[in-house]
Amino acid sequence: MGRSAILKYLLDESGAAMLQTKAVYAYRVCIANTACRFALRLFSLSAICFITMIWATTAEPTNQRGCVAILLYHRFGAVADGEMTVTMPVFLEQLRILREDGFQVISLIDLLSRLGNKDTALPAKAVVITSDDGHISVYQEMFPIIRREYLPLTLFVYPSAISNASYAMTWAQLQEMQKTGLVDIESHSYWHPNFKTERRRLSPEAYRRFVQDQLRRSKAVLEQKFGSAVNVLSWPFGIYDADLIQAAKMAGYTAAVTIERRPVTAADNVMALPRYIVTNDDTGGTFRHMLSCSR
Ligand SMILES: [Zn+2]
Repeated sequence: MGRSAILKYLLDESGAAMLQTKAVYAYRVCIANTACRFALRLFSLSAICFITMIWATTAEPTNQRGCVAILLYHRFGAVADGEMTVTMPVFLEQLRILREDGFQVISLIDLLSRLGNKDTALPAKAVVITSDDGHISVYQEMFPIIRREYLPLTLFVYPSAISNASYAMTWAQLQEMQKTGLVDIESHSYWHPNFKTERRRLSPEAYRRFVQDQLRRSKAVLEQKFGSAVNVLSWPFGIYDADLIQAAKMAGYTAAVTIERRPVTAADNVMALPRYIVTNDDTGGTFRHMLSCSR
């Protein structure tokens, strides 16, 4: 049967009751014709591709979105005295592992924007570097390496210590770091209180006011000093709860980080993202384990 015969058949008697029979017949007629059979196969293939594409882009992203470790450093020094200090040879070894294992250091802001977009996967091999407390050794020891290696870094500082405490950086040093475009400065509250202790010590109303002051004053001072938005909070001592999260949102924060030792996944609460405190013992396999998605 030729093409004109097929058309003639399809145009003839278009009663609704006959439609299914006609479709079956048209299919039989079509597969008997080489050109029509080829066109039909091409159409089916395109339809399958289209449906697969739609399914892939609308499917609920779950664990396939991957995970990213956020590393937290405090101090650098010649001797590792306690959990908070990492020596420079160990820090350089950790950076070498990142390079050799093909990890990309991304900024915390980049990670947050990826977490905020449900259609964006987390990068397969990425890591975020942060540092809390504004210790002078971060400027003296870590910053030259960060600048040389061109690595993004997020610093969480509490303004009461800056240009004040002997162990802390100055505003000028922070500004110098921020001007490189590599260093983002965010809030670690105003004077690093222990919110659990303050809650016990103060009346509910006084505690509420205290929390708002700590969160708002730090954000306001940092925004004024650096001329850029401060939207991320590092919970002092990693202490947070549902009320504190609500208070942080009220104060204008859109994300917060804590110190639970596990990688960030898309399932995490953006107001309590986990981080790994890096110690001087995190070398070789221990450091590699930290970068993997295992908990
Ligand atoms: Zn701290």
